[in-house]
Amino acid sequence: MDSLNNLINVFRKLPGLGLKSSKRIAYYLLKQDDKFLSELGRLISELKKGLCVCKICGNISYNNPCSICSDKLRDAKTICIVEDVESLSAFEQAGVYNGVYHVLNSRVSPMEGEDLSDDAIKSLSGHVKLNKPNEVIIATSPVLEGDLTYYALLGILKKLKVKKISRIGYGLPVGGSIEYADKMTLHTAMDSRREVE
Ligand SMILES: [Zn+2]
Repeated sequence: MDSLNNLINVFRKLPGLGLKSSKRIAYYLLKQDDKFLSELGRLISELKKGLCVCKICGNISYNNPCSICSDKLRDAKTICIVEDVESLSAFEQAGVYNGVYHVLNSRVSPMEGEDLSDDAIKSLSGHVKLNKPNEVIIATSPVLEGDLTYYALLGILKKLKVKKISRIGYGLPVGGSIEYADKMTLHTAMDSRREVE
């Protein structure tokens, strides 16, 4: 068994890693001591242990409800809908928002034949009914799928009679994704959100 090459092939499947960087990481690991490697192996094998999906917002967490939903210092009356946990994490890292989130884990994409799933709609409706928000911010990416998802969400939120619905503003380049946006861009996008009529 060729462990080194097997590892390189596994790394190549990771996002953003080509052959060259996969080799670099594998050779770097080769130089580390056994303690480091077994600790790394342990962390990876235990990564999903105890991890669950928050029953309120759909975030992944080691607690249920997640640490954001159960944080009393956060404004539970403002819900920001994001497409996935990566987008949530980008907003959190930028530290530009103090409300709670709702992770959609679903989207509208005619090219992929995807529509908002029944589970996603049910989960969002449940969250809105529970929190009775003063504002729901839609933070889908400014790409075709993000726009279509936005319109689908708008219909659902209007039916739920949400007081104020807004969409994050410009600042995000068209075609860009929230996941990779920098702090300043996310700050501008959140600050310049516009209320939907
Ligand atoms: Zn949560």
